[in-house]
Amino acid sequence: MKHFEYFSAHSAEEAVALLQKYSPDALPIAGGTELLVRMKQNLIHPKVLVDITHVPEFQGIALTEDGLRIGSLVTHAEVAASPLVRQYAPAVAAASGSVGAVQTRNLGTLGGNLVSCVPSIDSAPALLVLEAQAVVFGVNGRRQFPLTELFVGPRCSSLTPAELLEAVIIPRHNLGKPACFSKFGRRKALTIALVNAAACVETNPERTHFSQVRLALGAVAPTPIRAYTAEAYLAGKPVAQEVLLEAGRLAAEDAKPIDDFRASAEYRRHLIGVLTRRVIEGALAGMPKV
Ligand SMILES: Cc1cc2nc3c(=O)[nH]c(=O)nc-3n(C[C@H](O)[C@H](O)[C@H](O)COP(=O)(O)OP(=O)(O)OC[C@H]3O[C@@H](n4cnc5c(N)ncnc54)[C@H](O)[C@@H]3O)c2cc1C
Repeated sequence: MKHFEYFSAHSAEEAVALLQKYSPDALPIAGGTELLVRMKQNLIHPKVLVDITHVPEFQGIALTEDGLRIGSLVTHAEVAASPLVRQYAPAVAAASGSVGAVQTRNLGTLGGNLVSCVPSIDSAPALLVLEAQAVVFGVNGRRQFPLTELFVGPRCSSLTPAELLEAVIIPRHNLGKPACFSKFGRRKALTIALVNAAACVETNPERTHFSQVRLALGAVAPTPIRAYTAEAYLAGKPVAQEVLLEAGRLAAEDAKPIDDFRASAEYRRHLIGVLTRRVIEGALAGMPKV
């Protein structure tokens, strides 16, 4: 690893000022589980690291007027164990609970996961189907936008070099909606997703027909994606196996999987079908009995 300077910021303003002062040679560091690996592998060589772990504005999980706010510095272990997240967005808790091993979950943050913009990040699909918003802090103050706009490409976010992800907010109208996350890797634990997926499902009161389904996928395109064609197809369709099969086929068309050393594009397309059915069925199973 090459020499670098280290600063510890104690407010959002201080962190942003340091990043701006040393731009483009500075990067923020949270848990470091992604960043330090890449530095040790000589893939990146920031001259300055700005430690943001002591920035109070980026901490904590709270129910606010807008919805469920999860600070970017909240670790995966905290997300997975949070009574608020488990009550109002259990799919988000499940996604964080599936990240790496306990050591990675204890250090790795939700913000670091999202901003890394690795296509397979596990926290994205569940947040996307709950229509989470990103809250970003920069030199001109705060701005808020749909989380989907954070993802530009592999390892490329829409943040400017002196902007930080402060929090994500799951809007109030989606809290407690039936949603499910699932991940498939080369082994059952401690694994990077070959495909991950989440669905948020609404039906008519009799549970015979879908009224609205949101479906998101990871590791199947340059960024985590919503499967809009499959979603449009599902609206108004009966809750039936053949409908889920067709939704899976359409979701695979929404995706652009690649061949890599983990899996072929063809196998990933097959997995998209399987996981699409699994997350929709999981969300339906989580609904209170009629
Ligand atoms: C062994 C191992 C297993 C893993 N398993 C998984 C897994 O199963 N699933 C998965 O999704 N990921 C996995 N990861 C990846 C990683 O642990 C997670 O993405 C983690 O959440 C990253 O968070 P962090 O706080 O450590 O980020 P850092 O490493 O500190 O930062 C990651 C990137 O985000 C930037 N950044 C961090 N916080 C902010 C912020 N608030 N605003 C702006 N930029 C920011 C940094 O500059 C850096 O570019 C694994 C990593 C390891 C080493």
